[in-house]
Amino acid sequence: MSLLTKRHVIEGLQRAKTNKAQQHRDVLPTWCPGCGHFTPLQGVYEATERLNIHPKNLVLVSGIGCSGRFPFFVKGFGFHSLHGRGIPVATGIKIARPELTVVVAGGDGDGVGIGGGHFPHAARNNIDITYLLLDNSIYGLTKGQVSPTSPFGMISATTPYGNIGYPLNPSTLALTYGATFVARVFSRDRDECTEMVTQAIAHKGFSFVHVLSPCVEFNKFVTYGSIRETIAPLPSDYVPDDHVHAIQYAESASPVYHGVLFKTAKPTYSDHMQTVFEKMKGSPTN
Ligand code: SF4
Ligand code: MG
Repeated sequence: MSLLTKRHVIEGLQRAKTNKAQQHRDVLPTWCPGCGHFTPLQGVYEATERLNIHPKNLVLVSGIGCSGRFPFFVKGFGFHSLHGRGIPVATGIKIARPELTVVVAGGDGDGVGIGGGHFPHAARNNIDITYLLLDNSIYGLTKGQVSPTSPFGMISATTPYGNIGYPLNPSTLALTYGATFVARVFSRDRDECTEMVTQAIAHKGFSFVHVLSPCVEFNKFVTYGSIRETIAPLPSDYVPDDHVHAIQYAESASPVYHGVLFKTAKPTYSDHMQTVFEKMKGSPTN
């Protein structure tokens, strides 16, 4: 274990024991010490506190995988759904109860593998939910198979001679699908992660946070150290209002930029539903 990883493990364990964290959960996280997922979890705790969201108005939804445990560790309503199905479940909840804050947490395999068909439709329809994609470039819960974001050439349990598939870029996908808020963050940067999660939850519309969240148990290629070497903040004069520009920055591999890539205001699906309800009231069939 590298020095950086050891320090992260110790800090993570200390954070997990704080009173602040305990206020926001009833169940202790069961993730491996050092797992990147602790940071976005802490981000949700702090974001809901900053935004004054009561647990009775908060819903956490997940699919399957290590990230699927997320709802257990947050006080509020939770739905641990099927593999890749966090987004449609969250969409239904938000349409039925638009006053609730709905957050989906999912992994890379869950979100752009088996659930890859749901992501574009929630984004294009501007469903007012927050989607945290916890990307460790591997299937962690099932002990280390390549995922849709594993780098080409990566050795894994299923690719002993190296991955021969090319990786997807979830941030680029979110942008091209029409997400109205897109950010990328490294789970080593706790303050920035909290800030991104807060902005995402506060955003009206489909907000997406791509969290680079290493699996310390099964991915020996995409690590805290390897990510640290490649990432850089967006330029200080970067303005996240240009879609084409945002895609160019999201696509950059060297460096991999973190920060808010894109943000725009647009009516949500629930807004359009209200318009339809108003029209229905005036319809002669009613
Ligand atoms: Fe996290 Fe990997 Fe452990 Fe799963 S197996 S909890 S992703 S470190
Ligand atoms: Mg994964």
